[in-house]
Amino acid sequence: MSRMNVVPPSPGPAAQNFLSRAHGLFINGQWVAPRSGKHFDVFDPGTGQKIATAAAGEAADIDAAVAAARTALTGPWAKFTAAERGKLLWKLADLVEQHAQELIELEILDNGQPLAIAQYVVRHVVPDFFRYYAGWPTKIEGATIPAAPQGRRPGDVLSFTLREPIGVVGAIIPWNAPLPMLMVKLAPALATGCTLVLKPAELTPLTALRMAQLCTEAGVPEGVVNVVTGFGETAGAALAAHPGVDKIAFTGSTEVGRLIVKAATGNLKKVSLELGGKSPVIVFADAALEQVIPGAARACFFLQGQNCMAGTRLYVHEKVHDRVVEGVAQIARTMQLGHGLDPASQFGPLISAEQRERVRGFVEAGKREGGELVCGGGAPTRPGYFFEPTVFARMRADMTPVKGEIFGPVLCVQSFDDSDLDRIAAEANNTIYGLSGSVWTRDIGLAMQMVRRIDSGQVSVNMHAALDPAIPFGGNKQSGWGREFGKEGLEPYLKTKAISVAW
Ligand code: ADP
Repeated sequence: MSRMNVVPPSPGPAAQNFLSRAHGLFINGQWVAPRSGKHFDVFDPGTGQKIATAAAGEAADIDAAVAAARTALTGPWAKFTAAERGKLLWKLADLVEQHAQELIELEILDNGQPLAIAQYVVRHVVPDFFRYYAGWPTKIEGATIPAAPQGRRPGDVLSFTLREPIGVVGAIIPWNAPLPMLMVKLAPALATGCTLVLKPAELTPLTALRMAQLCTEAGVPEGVVNVVTGFGETAGAALAAHPGVDKIAFTGSTEVGRLIVKAATGNLKKVSLELGGKSPVIVFADAALEQVIPGAARACFFLQGQNCMAGTRLYVHEKVHDRVVEGVAQIARTMQLGHGLDPASQFGPLISAEQRERVRGFVEAGKREGGELVCGGGAPTRPGYFFEPTVFARMRADMTPVKGEIFGPVLCVQSFDDSDLDRIAAEANNTIYGLSGSVWTRDIGLAMQMVRRIDSGQVSVNMHAALDPAIPFGGNKQSGWGREFGKEGLEPYLKTKAISVAW
């Protein structure tokens, strides 16, 4: 680790002003106090210091938010034309750009991510996503169907479908990328005419509260977007079980995903899940190593590895194994670790002390089980929840860090030395997850054969985790249910009504 700037620069006046406010819950277009009167502290993971307090919403607050969302479904929002919903999403993108500096600072203070990432997310990823979905409301169409129900003849009956908003959506999101997670739920909900109750992660509630204000400024009618901050076991569980919610859109751990599914059985609400991952990065001997090495490092260490798409299992052909391992380790050793607000930082803290202990546990298990620790493996002595980018080589499939989703900066390298693609794919697929993955080779035929064998919702060639508003994203196996992003991302927010008219 080449540099450790311990004292972070201060945020600007807009972010400071926001942090100093007493935050309530955003229900029916109003800021209200939580029914319980309870609040919780919000910490900067880069310093471990308290930076704000947020309201601890519970079941009674979820009741109020769901009631508001249900009423709003048939209020002025139902009279918005498709074009008006599109304009509203476009306006939201404009507002994000106008308030970019404040959102960047709040996202960094809340989550810890480095400045360059927060800037890219707030100035590009989020506005582009809202604008992509701004184009969809006017293109959501049903179909006319050449049917002849009950012996009718063509010309005597018309069958067609309407695509209707699914209704009240409960969105539960994690802390690893708070704004993008919010954007992924909010944009299709508004595009389709749904209403939303959003429960941000208790570790990162800030930008969701700021976005609630921007929704009002963009012209979102009261009750359409509600934000209830609070804990998973209380607010989250109440939302997942609520009989007035038509659909839950969840992103988080596979373990909590299972709880959501169970909670949803009461009213059989629809559920979409974006869960964990343990994605393979497969490097063939002919790959362009000058791209592979930084690509593999980024695939694992982006957001300090707190990223469901992280390429945490690196499979390298024996011929290039040592060069790749040394190259990635060299990047890991020289990454500039520091507070996200410091422009020189390339690598931020983990989200919490608890998460750091979890990561440390995986690293200790890897050492005990005989993994070769090439670099990292420890926490630097400084404030904040930092952990060094870590590379293990010569790993085996049965080792704890190879099997479990660590959600931290720990890369496990394994090698292969034959050309049996089925065997390589079996190794790559030897996981309960199936979210992402990448194949690195100059041989496009080989790449395509490999791509077809990988059981993941997404596979990239000579890049990892290709994200774009238009590219469907989601998991196979225990990585989730359904897809987000793109046209497919609208589907979980719509229901189909089939209508037949006889005359
Ligand atoms: P992570 O492990 O990334 O923190 P979690 O899956 O624990 O992810 O949390 C993701 C989101 O799910 C958070 O908003 C959290 O509050 C919420 N959550 C946690 N437990 C539950 C639960 N039992 N029911 C509903 N939501 C929950």
